[in-house]
Parts: sequence; C-alpha cells; structure tokens
Amino acid sequence: MKIKEITTFLFKAPLKTPFKTALRRVDSLEDLVVVIACEDGSVGYGEGAPAPAITGETIDSMIAAIEHIKPLLIGLEIEEFDTALEKIHHSIPKNTTAKSAIEIALYDLKSKMLGLPLYRMLGGTQTTFKTDITISMNETDTMVRDSLEALARGYEILKVKIGDNPQKDIRRVKAIWDAVGKQATLRLDANQGWSAVQSVQVLQTLESAGIVAECIEQPVKADDLAGLKYIKERVQTPLLADESVFSAKDAVALLERQAVDYINIKLAKTGGISGALKLADIARDYGVKCMLGCMLEGPFSIAAGVHVASAKADVITMIDLDAVSLLSCTPAKTSVRFEESRITLSGEAGIGVSILA
Ligand code: MG
Repeated sequence: MKIKEITTFLFKAPLKTPFKTALRRVDSLEDLVVVIACEDGSVGYGEGAPAPAITGETIDSMIAAIEHIKPLLIGLEIEEFDTALEKIHHSIPKNTTAKSAIEIALYDLKSKMLGLPLYRMLGGTQTTFKTDITISMNETDTMVRDSLEALARGYEILKVKIGDNPQKDIRRVKAIWDAVGKQATLRLDANQGWSAVQSVQVLQTLESAGIVAECIEQPVKADDLAGLKYIKERVQTPLLADESVFSAKDAVALLERQAVDYINIKLAKTGGISGALKLADIARDYGVKCMLGCMLEGPFSIAAGVHVASAKADVITMIDLDAVSLLSCTPAKTSVRFEESRITLSGEAGIGVSILA
C-alpha cells in the first residue's frame, strides 16, 4: 500500500447552539479533513480542528504544514508506518493539530490494511463510552437551563465552562449544583481564567458549601506550573491539566512536581495518536489517570480519540468527546455510533468514519 496522494478539504458543520468558553465563542464547526490515498485504491481519513488560542494553529497554517509534510510521505508504503510517523514529527516543530490529522489518516490506513478496527490494532477491547457534555459559559440562568436540558437528554456528567469572573463563577456553579442535585457529576473547566489565589478562593468557597466537583480543569495560565502546585496543595477538588500539557515532556514536568491529579489528553495537542498513547503511558507510570478530550472537531478525529481511549482504558477514565453531539448534522458516514452521551465503536476496520460518497 504505497501512498500516492494527500489532499485536504474544509469540513463544515453547524452547531446546535453556540459554544462559549473563557477563551472563545464559536457558532459552527470548520476544520480540516486529510485524505491519504494509496496506489491500491485504499483511503485513510484524518481530521484536525484549529484552536488558535490553544495550539496557535489556523486552517491556513494547518494546510501549509500539511503541504510541507506531504512530499516526505508520498511514495512510502503503509508497512513503513514507523518511518512515516518519524518523518511527520521531525518535519517541523509544533503544528500539532496538522500532524495529528495526518497521523489519524495513517492509523486509519494501517488498521484497514490489517482488517481491524483501530482500537483492536492498538490492543483495546472496550467499545462503549460515556462522554460528558459541555455547558457553555453564559449567564447563570442559561447555564442552569442548558444543564437541565442535558440531563433530559440523558447526560450524567456536565462539563461546566467558567473562568471569566470568580464571583460570578461561584454563583454559576452553585446554581447548577442546586438545580441538578445528585443527578449529575460536575466537571469544571476555567480555561486559564483565574489566578492561583482566585482559584483557591473559588474552590474553597464551593467546597465549604459542600460542592466538590469531579475535577477543576486548567484554572490558571498554561505555563503557571507553580500556580497549579499552589492550588493542588490547598483544595480538595482534583486538579486536571489541559492547556499546560501538550507532550509527554510537559506531563513529566508537572508530574515530577506533583502539581496535578489528572491530565487531559487531546490528539490536537499531542500531535496525534502516537503522542497520545505515550502520554497515557507516562501518566500510568506516575499513577495519574487521564481524560481524553477534544477540540471543537468532527467525527473523524473524535472517533480516533475514542479508539485511543479504548486502547488505554485502564488509565483514561474520563471521556470528554461531546463535539459530535454538538453538531446539528455532519457530512460524514460513520459506523461509530454517537448517541448523546453514549459512544459505541463498531467492528469496521479503521477508524470507522469516511466521507459521504
Ligand atoms: Mg479544557
């Protein structure tokens, strides 16, 4: 299976409701799908959604990075898989989402070549997963309403986006907690919105009101490792690092300092599946569990994330892969079933997602 051609196209899908965090507001998904075609007619699909505020990438920069990597891969056999991955990662620094999109397509091709669903190729057995759903940052009333709607749709875990104003954030979380009662688990994500001191104040206030969320994600700036450590030493709510950890190296820096309780693995940060698998192994070495998270992205890369979660199910205990359920429709054909909070992998070889013919 010799690689003949690598192309990209814009993948667009409208959102059911706008997605709002402390960093951004998005009304529709627009990301990039990578198609790798081989001489024998087999095709692999990958995808990546640029999140400029997080990875520094845009659609244009992703296209440029893929154009840069393309000539290194054309002519290689899929059997030379490790060489292909090495070429991607030595080609250019950073550009992790672009690399991830290409990697996913290569993994799709390799597992198709072996006739296995990707999770089986990676050694996984788990096929059903329960994801949380994002509650966008809004006025308190809207967030309460969205939380109740999510419960009605069968979600049991809410990922609550906060971080623009500590006092308001306390009111938001208290109101949601009061409204959902014991029917839901809350994961809080402040997306770098607070200082370390503010984080401790907010979390201690919530804790003294009897509210202990399953985790608080990235309360402080990505590079504020001392801040994370400061918070971890002062609150009960488990601390999850997201923007602070792209690579295994970033994880080691935090884990050596015992500065976090969990790590959020996203393919768009790790440069794809190989880096995500490595990151999960490192977390396991330190006895730390992980979340498998996503950007606002479509079914190709979300499915890839689910396969990774299956492969490392012992260490990836939290799934935050709601992006497909946020879309009102998608121009893709998928054998992976996305049914609100429930995601089920199929027995189809590869990642199980392709473009509509
Ligand atoms: Mg996050």
